[in-house]
Amino acid sequence: MLRRSWVEISTETVLTNYRTYRAALPASMEVMAVVKANAYGHGDRELAPMLQRAGCGHFAVSNLEEAVTLRESGITGQILILGYTPASEAAALREYRITQALLNEEHAASFTGTGILAHCAVDTGMNRIGLDASDPAACEKAVREAAGKVELTGLFTHLCVADTADGRDFTLHQLATFRAVAERVRDLRLPWVHCMNSAGGLRYPAYGTLCRLGIILYGLKPDVSNELPEGIMPAMTWKSVVSMVKAVHPGETIGYGRTFTAEREMRVATIPTGYADGYSRALSNRGSVVIRGRRAPIVGRICMDQFMVDVSELPEVRAEDEVILMGPGYTAEDMAGDAGTISYEVVCGISDRVTKLWK
Ligand SMILES: *Cc1c(COP(=O)(O)O)cnc(C)c1O
Repeated sequence: MLRRSWVEISTETVLTNYRTYRAALPASMEVMAVVKANAYGHGDRELAPMLQRAGCGHFAVSNLEEAVTLRESGITGQILILGYTPASEAAALREYRITQALLNEEHAASFTGTGILAHCAVDTGMNRIGLDASDPAACEKAVREAAGKVELTGLFTHLCVADTADGRDFTLHQLATFRAVAERVRDLRLPWVHCMNSAGGLRYPAYGTLCRLGIILYGLKPDVSNELPEGIMPAMTWKSVVSMVKAVHPGETIGYGRTFTAEREMRVATIPTGYADGYSRALSNRGSVVIRGRRAPIVGRICMDQFMVDVSELPEVRAEDEVILMGPGYTAEDMAGDAGTISYEVVCGISDRVTKLWK
């Protein structure tokens, strides 16, 4: 392998995270592993079969390509597409036994008579997808109509502020709205009723037969303010190397746009990773890396394939030293905070140019 920019993913850690969270859920509830976007950049083909062997029988993805990838990598359980698939793909959904989320009345009607497996999405306040649940009677009617058009096996909603303390009232309102609809259609005996994401399952009383776990499987917090349960650890470390070290003198500038000016004698290390690897340009003059166990701050702008860090305080740093871009000492949450985003976007954004290693 070319030692330029790579991520190391601990499959054992993902398994431990799964088992730890699983153990905290009621026995009546099953985990649906959310492995969309290549398992948040951690590798769906590698992780899903391993989770299946550990007893996980449900998987969620965002689209048909991801769903087919899972089937072809040996997933035999339920695969739910959480996002849009046009009815023109109904034959593929049936052929691969994939379950489709129905986004609204019109989307449900477009699948009439196709015989696909489906779950109704119910909108309890996020205003993204789903049958409007603000009028439970109308929502009930729409679910019943959908049940007459496809093979309906589930009902779900999505919580949009379950991760923060000030979202409590709204989340309780979403849960109550969902429950009202679910109870109205109890006689349909839909086996899969679900409303919990990682944050919901952590912070609210369990409701439903499935918990959809995404970010926490990978060991990251839904929100920086959250405490993770004991034993849940980040599974991914992103690494690179020092390609060269040089002296920079007072008055000289570093990188494109000359946004950093040296005010003293400096030692600067160059790292061969850049925004084409998914290393956010928003980290320019803001982020840090870890070399020999200590942080080195980024100086100047992130380039497409390289960036520079200040190692003036780390005189032992040499070319070919290993660098932690994200991992122990500078977490995905730290990086997300410095880049003005969330850890979800950091891990999903690591590009295919970065080698992935599973251990
Ligand atoms: C992505 C997603 C999830 C997983 O959310 P996490 O916060 O990563 O646990 C669950 N449900 C839906 C509908 C999603 O889109």
